Amino acid sequence: MSGFNGYIQLVYVLVAAMFVMGLHLMNSPATARRGNQVAQAGMVIAVVATLILLIHSGTVTATGWVVIIVGSLLGSAVGLWAARTVQMTAMPQLVSAFNAVGGGAAALVAVYGYYEAESRVTGVLGTTSVFTVLDVLIGSVTFSGSIIAAGKLQGVIPGQPIIFKGARLVNLGLAVVAIGTAAYMFSTPSLPALLIVVLASLAFGVMMVLPIGGADMPVVISLLNAFTGTAVAMAGFVIQNWALIVAGALVGASGSILTKLMADAMNRSLANIILGGFGTGDSAIAVEAAADAQVRSIAADDAAIQLAYASKVIIVPGYGLAAAQAQHEVVALAQALTDNGVDVSYGIHPVAGRMPGHMNVLLAEANAPYTQLKDLEEVNPEFPRTDVALVVGANDVVNPAARHDKASPIYGMPILDADKARHVLLIKRSLNAGFAGIDNELYYDPKTTFVFGDAKQVLTRIVEELKAQG
Ligand code: NAP
Repeated sequence: MSGFNGYIQLVYVLVAAMFVMGLHLMNSPATARRGNQVAQAGMVIAVVATLILLIHSGTVTATGWVVIIVGSLLGSAVGLWAARTVQMTAMPQLVSAFNAVGGGAAALVAVYGYYEAESRVTGVLGTTSVFTVLDVLIGSVTFSGSIIAAGKLQGVIPGQPIIFKGARLVNLGLAVVAIGTAAYMFSTPSLPALLIVVLASLAFGVMMVLPIGGADMPVVISLLNAFTGTAVAMAGFVIQNWALIVAGALVGASGSILTKLMADAMNRSLANIILGGFGTGDSAIAVEAAADAQVRSIAADDAAIQLAYASKVIIVPGYGLAAAQAQHEVVALAQALTDNGVDVSYGIHPVAGRMPGHMNVLLAEANAPYTQLKDLEEVNPEFPRTDVALVVGANDVVNPAARHDKASPIYGMPILDADKARHVLLIKRSLNAGFAGIDNELYYDPKTTFVFGDAKQVLTRIVEELKAQG
């Protein structure tokens, strides 16, 4: 390693440390923003160091520089535009699109490396490295799988599982072709064989995601995110870039942990998610049953009075809060209650909303005090001594069926024990089901009262009434 190259490698070590530090800071909402900035700065340093390395090596042609500059500008512009304009509720499909780009780019690095080896050694390929093969396999699966996932979430492709007879056999066949051909490449390096691996892996990615139902998509996206990281780490080995190896390994490891946490929070195994059809249950029947049952409802003004007389309130936010974009209103309500001496906290379920950390992100955006945010284990023991559990646009995460109804698709999922509070106020627009498509027995609990309406409008009205009462 030349002296100059050695300096660049040292910079990469610094960058790796910045990535780790950034991730560590993201552990707490109070430091998450700084963590993001540290990791961002690390990425900028890595890109600049790589450009300096390229300039120093003198191997990039004029055309190569044009491609690098135009590509970087185009990619940055699209990324910036997407990140700034996308709605919070559309974040999962954006992440999925980014996964596709990451996986595809990583696979292209390996394909090009292999192709270049052939052209350099007069048509004869060098040995096939295990990193090249894994990069192509995982990167291609991620690319096509993520495009299908983004399409499903965006509604371009039907969200329900797309299943046809013999699909598993086709999947098995594609896996055998991809892995078998990859193994063949170790004894006989061959470009056409590489092409077969790419095509079979692309087809496998499509077939892997098509049968997965809407409710499971966030878990699958997290899994594909872990794949992207692994493919990028493999690309790092192919071109021997340490920053890429470390960044890829961090994404691969954190994505895998997140996938496991989400699957656990839904009490499902990963195999069950990949092979199952959750979120596609017979919701029509469940909701029909709900239509006949008796529920109690009050106006927002009366809810304000009930809240004003409480001494302890736990707010349970869910997907409806995000859909209504009512994060500022819920924080204003919490503030108004706190000002009146009410003890207020938020119960955050790990899979509330439609993406990991959805509620934390929303509430942080509205500057909810971090000390009021409590996770499931911390908040559940508090419900029995709570006067009002105020459930805002949450449904599945407070459904007691998860505790005892073995036939329920959410059986076993840990829930927030809102039903153990003295009173439950449910803010939602109707008796409709949540993402799992099932009825919620909390609706018919004598302790439960609905405040029907859009979360933003109801919360605004409650805050106005609380302020009017002084
Ligand atoms: P949910 O069960 O999907 O229920 C959300 C409720 O919000 C709906 O019942 C809906 O009822 C109401 N709503 C919608 N728009 C509203 C508005 N504008 N104002 C007021 N209410 C509104 O949500 P959740 O309790 O947060 O549970 C999340 C679900 O997603 C779970 O089943 C979880 O397993 C699944 N999931 C989440 C993740 C994740 O990463 N977060 C990952 C995988 C799966 P109305 O139509 O009657 O208003």
